[in-house]
Amino acid sequence: MSLEVYINGKYYPKADAKVSVYDHGLLYGDGVFEGMRAYGGKVFRHRAHIDRLYESAAAIQLNIPMSKDALQQAVNDTLHRNQLVDAYIRLVVTRGAGSLGLDPAKTSDPQVIIITDHIELYPKEKYENGLEIITASTIRNHPAALSPRIKSLNYLNNILARLEGKLAGCSEALMLNHRGEVAECTGDNIFILRTGRLLTPPIDAGILEGITRNAVIELAHRMSIEVAEIPFTRHDVFVAQECFLTGSAAEVIPVVKLDGRPIGTGGVGELTKKLMIAFHQLVRNDPQAT
Ligand code: PMP
Repeated sequence: MSLEVYINGKYYPKADAKVSVYDHGLLYGDGVFEGMRAYGGKVFRHRAHIDRLYESAAAIQLNIPMSKDALQQAVNDTLHRNQLVDAYIRLVVTRGAGSLGLDPAKTSDPQVIIITDHIELYPKEKYENGLEIITASTIRNHPAALSPRIKSLNYLNNILARLEGKLAGCSEALMLNHRGEVAECTGDNIFILRTGRLLTPPIDAGILEGITRNAVIELAHRMSIEVAEIPFTRHDVFVAQECFLTGSAAEVIPVVKLDGRPIGTGGVGELTKKLMIAFHQLVRNDPQAT
């Protein structure tokens, strides 16, 4: 059976799921999105993702033409229809088709799209041995230019950094902010273990407030590990004991080298291993999954 895609209340086979070439989502990256995961038929932190989508939309004055409850229900219906239990979900809301000018007022019919598909993960080997990443010279968008808190369809900033990573043979790249501090990776948040504390950049370092990041902070608290959301630099990563990334697709994934320099022992850290296990348990037993 071919997977079906939800667009504005109707389902289309994958190959026929299309939007207009006049859609400002395509013409200008004018729209917002979410990437989420379903485990055992339930969407992990479903409401938190929906809330973030509506916040991203509000930040660009895009009105999502349905209620949060209706959208959440539509996600579950789409998963059901495609008989998916463990899945990746992409929610997209575009500004809709309009004239060729920038003016959002000249668009109509925002497209609400729900794609549910099989999950493409990093290879198992990367979870066992850790990722090697580089620092991209492309900095994260200045928050006063395009806030990284908005999960917009304009991901070129991240794509440029990802290209740098690829050229260096790495599947992720670290992005610094306009102040030279560590911000996040191109599609994941970052944590380091340094002098007994887990550090992760604060939201005002110019990052996306990751839902996996927040879940990992909760897990660390439950394990009585001190967590600090404070600015830090590459120096702190170089001298850290451990490093890992978090994201809906990647979950928790270890990082063992930055710019060719081993972090800690150069192997996967013990706390990272514990958090990976705790996260795997959480995603299948989370009361906030719906
Ligand atoms: N930062 C960026 C830039 C991202 O695109 C993502 C993934 N959507 C994340 C962090 C991780 O966020 P989450 O845990 O909510 O998937």
